Amino acid sequence: MPRTPSRRTALHGLAAVGAAVIGFDPFTRSWAVSASDRPLTDLPPLDGTLHTDEASLTAAADDFGHIVHRRPAAVLRPGSIRDVVAMIRFCNAHGLRVAPRGQGHATQGQAQVDGGLVIETAPFAAIGAVGRRSTTVTVGAGAKWSDVAKATLAHGLTPPTFTDYLELSVGGTLSVGGLGGQTHQQGAQVDNVTELQVVTGAGEFVRCSPTRHRDLFHAVLAGLGQCAVVVGATLRLVPAPETVRHYLLPYDDLRTFLDDQRLLVREGRFAYVEGQVTPDSEGAFRGYLLEAVAYGPPVGPAPDDSALLRGLRHDPSGVQTSDLAYYDFLDRLAPGVAALKEAGLWAYAHPWLNLLLPGREAVALAGSLLDDLTSADLGPGVVLLYPLLSERLHAPLLRTPDDPVPYLLAVLRTTPPDDTATIDRLLAANRTAYDTVRAAGGTHYPVGSVPFGPSDWRDHFGSAWRQLATARHTYDPNGILVPGQGIF
Ligand SMILES: Cc1cc2nc3c(=O)[nH]c(=O)nc-3n(C[C@H](O)[C@H](O)[C@H](O)COP(=O)(O)OP(=O)(O)OC[C@H]3O[C@@H](n4cnc5c(N)ncnc54)[C@H](O)[C@@H]3O)c2cc1C
Repeated sequence: MPRTPSRRTALHGLAAVGAAVIGFDPFTRSWAVSASDRPLTDLPPLDGTLHTDEASLTAAADDFGHIVHRRPAAVLRPGSIRDVVAMIRFCNAHGLRVAPRGQGHATQGQAQVDGGLVIETAPFAAIGAVGRRSTTVTVGAGAKWSDVAKATLAHGLTPPTFTDYLELSVGGTLSVGGLGGQTHQQGAQVDNVTELQVVTGAGEFVRCSPTRHRDLFHAVLAGLGQCAVVVGATLRLVPAPETVRHYLLPYDDLRTFLDDQRLLVREGRFAYVEGQVTPDSEGAFRGYLLEAVAYGPPVGPAPDDSALLRGLRHDPSGVQTSDLAYYDFLDRLAPGVAALKEAGLWAYAHPWLNLLLPGREAVALAGSLLDDLTSADLGPGVVLLYPLLSERLHAPLLRTPDDPVPYLLAVLRTTPPDDTATIDRLLAANRTAYDTVRAAGGTHYPVGSVPFGPSDWRDHFGSAWRQLATARHTYDPNGILVPGQGIF
C-alpha cells in the first residue's frame, strides 16, 4: 500500500527539490512530504534530478506484475555516475533504502522501495564504440537489449544470448541471469559479461571483472541487486547471422517432446531451442511446440531442413518453417506485445511462475504441474518449457538444479489486476508448485511471483549463500540495497 506521510513525523531535515518538498524520518528510515520549507543542508548537488511528484512516485510504486505497490519517497534520474555515488552515500548517512529500477518488468515489487529512493537507470543508456573486429561493447546499465542489438548489428556483431523480450534493461537482466533459447550454447547473459561498472551499497564506484574485485563481480551477476547498483557493463560480442531459419515442430507427447529437446541441446544442432505448451479445445495443456532456430551465413551454412530435422519425432504434417532477418527473429515478440498493449492486457496483473526443473524429473514434474493448470488460470499468457545445459552456466548466484539438462518451466499468467482474490489464489498456487519442484531438486528463477521469505532465499542460494552474505556485508554494510527482493 502507498505510504501516507505522518504529520507527526520527526523530520530530521527537509529540502526543496524542484517544486516539491521532502524530508526523512530517521526512526522509520523513510522520507515524507512536508509543508515545512526548512532546507536539508546535506542533500548533495546533482547533475540529474530528484523527483517527488505524484506521477513519478506512483510509477515507481508499480511494475509489470501490477500486484505489489510500494511507494518511494523520491526517484533519482541520475545525470552522472557521480549522482548515484552521492545519493547512495546520502542514503547510507540517513538510513534510507535504495532500489535501482531498469524497465520495471519485475513482477513482484523487486525494484520497489517503501519510503526510500528509487534510482532509475534509464539515463545510463549509452552504447560504446563498436567496430567490425570488436569482441566486446561497453553499455550503460539502463540500455535496452533492443538498442544494444541494433547498435552492434550495424557492425555485423551481436551479444550471444538474448531474453525473449528485448525491451528489458541490461542491468535488470544481469541482476537475474538472462535466459533464452541460445543459453544452451552460449550460457546466460551473465555468462557473457567481461566487466561491470558498479556503485556499491557503500557508495563506491568500482570496476569489477573475473580478475579484478572478483568477489564483487560474482556477487553482482544474478545477485538480485543486493551488493551494488550496476551502472555499466562490458558485454561479449560474436559475429551475427544475417538471416535465420525458424522452425515450429508440433508434438503430442510430453516425454517425446522433452527427449527431442534434450537431444538437440546436447548435440548443439540449432543455435536456439525453446518450446511452448498449448491447451487443447478442452483447455488441457497437452500440445507441445518445439521452437528451434538455425543461423544462416555468415555464421552457419545455409540451413538444410533434412539434416536439421533428422531423427526428430514431431508430427511432420504440422511443421512450420520461416526465414527471417536476424533482428526480426530477436524481436519476434514485438507484434504480439503491441497487440496485448492495444487490448489493454499488458496492464493486467502477471503472477508469473518461473521454475527450473531437474531434467531427470522433468516429465513427472512438468506433467503434474501442467495437469493442474487450467486455461482460466493462465489467462491470455503462455507456457514456456525448454532445456538449458548446466555446463554452459557459470554464474554462482544463478541457481539451477544439480542436473546436466535442467528445464525452464514458465507459466506466464495474466489476470485482471483488480481481482485480488484470484491473484492471491494464483500466488498461493505458485508457492505450492515451487514447493513440489523444490522437493525434487528444482529451483525458482527469480523473475516471477513466488511468495518467498529470508529462509527460502537461504535455501535457494544453498552453497552460494555464504558468498552472497559475505559480499553483502562487505559492499552494502548498512543493508540499504533492494529490499524488494526480501532476501536480508
Ligand atoms: C515480457 C517479459 C519477458 C521476459 N522474458 C525473459 C526471458 O526471456 N528471459 C529471462 O531471463 N527473463 C525474462 N524476463 C524477466 C526479466 O529478465 C527480469 O524481470 C528483469 O529483471 C527485468 O529487467 P528490468 O530492466 O525491467 O528490471 P527491473 O524490473 O527494473 O528490476 C528487476 C530487479 O533488478 C534490480 N535491478 C535493476 N536494474 C539494476 C541495476 N542496474 N543494478 C542492480 N540491480 C538492478 C531491481 O532493483 C530489481 O530488483 C521477462 C520479463 C518480461 C516482463
